[in-house]
Amino acid sequence: MTLWNLGSINADHVYAVPHIPAPGETLAATGLSRGLGGKGANMSVAMARAGGRVAHLGAVGADGGWMLERLEGYGVDCAHVQRHDGPSGHAIITVDAAAENAITIWPGANREIDPEAVKRALERAERGDLFVTQNETSLQVEAAAQAHAQGLTVAYAAAPFDADAVRAVLPHLDLLVLNEIEAQQLAQALGQPVEALPVPNVVVTLGAKGCDWIETASGARHHVDAPRVEAVDTTGAGDTFTGYLLAGLSQGLAMPEALARATRAAALKVGRHGAADAIPTLEEVERAAL
Ligand code: ATP
Repeated sequence: MTLWNLGSINADHVYAVPHIPAPGETLAATGLSRGLGGKGANMSVAMARAGGRVAHLGAVGADGGWMLERLEGYGVDCAHVQRHDGPSGHAIITVDAAAENAITIWPGANREIDPEAVKRALERAERGDLFVTQNETSLQVEAAAQAHAQGLTVAYAAAPFDADAVRAVLPHLDLLVLNEIEAQQLAQALGQPVEALPVPNVVVTLGAKGCDWIETASGARHHVDAPRVEAVDTTGAGDTFTGYLLAGLSQGLAMPEALARATRAAALKVGRHGAADAIPTLEEVERAAL
């Protein structure tokens, strides 16, 4: 079974600064590092690290070759990722000594994906494959609708949160993953609790408290506790969780087992600094004494 991920690919440029620059201020950074980021890329890496077969759909700019090499290095199939002339999606992240940050994101190629190319790529998917997207690219609704019509299981990670984006994609979903705040915002925007959503499975992540899985047909709510760990960097915790959950489902795990594995993987991630590059392998997740 293949996991098709229509997702963002971002270069994270991280600048260490003595303090976050004030309006009008010019400041020399004391350090610079470059990493692979974007919710889509993080999720593809997580699914691949979990042992899933992953085909990424999306686009990078002329400066994005190294990101595709990095993704492929993790085992993600990038044959359907488009190459554009303009800039790749990127984030300028300034971090001060107290770990406070300010982030500017340029969506770039992530919002200029060619619809025909995505349509043709998805036509190669097989009934029973899994499709996932998030709210950082163009074509979320079109691709989710096509995947749903072709008989794929369709999942959506509602981040960065936008109630209108969720509302538009909702009719095509089998599984919705969102964090506690996003769940509250969605319930408020739609005027109904997430238990009443027209999506069979809703997973609400609760940070250090774990997650809740809601089967909307029966209204049953199942809680999974997260292991207690020392969190040093929660960047990508949600992407690790969702990637591991979907990979587990694609490998035939039942929802409770897939959630348990995703919870362990995310707990390991928060104990490490970094995003995509800090996502643990399945072997590490299975071996860890949590
Ligand atoms: P982020 O935006 O930081 O990637 P999120 O807001 O999408 O995350 P969270 O609910 O904060 O989602 O975290 C996702 C999952 O990661 C949780 O369900 C949990 O399994 C795990 N997790 C997050 N924080 C911790 C923590 N401090 N300790 C253990 N597990 C954690």
